Amino acid sequence: MRRNTRAGEELSRLKAYFESPDVCAQHVMADYFGSDEPPQSCCSTAGSRCSACWDAGRAPESERRPEVARAFHSPRPRDGGAHVDSAQRAQRVDRQVHRLLQLQPRGMHPRRVWHALRGDESAFLPGVGRMVALPRALRDSRHFGGRADLVFPEVGRSLARLAQLGAAQELPDGTWQPLRPAGATAEARRNGA
Ligand SMILES: [Zn+2]
Repeated sequence: MRRNTRAGEELSRLKAYFESPDVCAQHVMADYFGSDEPPQSCCSTAGSRCSACWDAGRAPESERRPEVARAFHSPRPRDGGAHVDSAQRAQRVDRQVHRLLQLQPRGMHPRRVWHALRGDESAFLPGVGRMVALPRALRDSRHFGGRADLVFPEVGRSLARLAQLGAAQELPDGTWQPLRPAGATAEARRNGA
């Protein structure tokens, strides 16, 4: 199966998981790993109960959520740290984009960066008018297919951030070139550059 097809499936399953907070987590896991129903003991006591079963009121009246489960409990877990999450995600995307640029030091078009991150084996090349396989260096990169969910405008935003950091530059023909090693980029970030 193509890597981005599989990633798409994984993402939709993950999304379904978070969108059904009432469904027992242990059942979802068992289903995901293709095993039978989880053992009867799962979610049967306060020490083994998943948060979904607590939240959905499937615990006996007499049982109370243990302290650890209480510590992790939030009625709106996905709101926590949303800003940090997006900043961290942007940084990770930047590192991946920079790494891919390094693999094509003479310059790479943003669309090609995008296709590499999505894991597309080939991309339509307007100049040639047909599908052309992505260079082997890109396809062999561990970042190939590393962002199957990325939308194209995110590539542009990432390149703009890298340019601001002095880590990449746009050439007159619209392709992008790396300027500094990735380590130097991370260093510059830590120093607030
Ligand atoms: Zn459960």
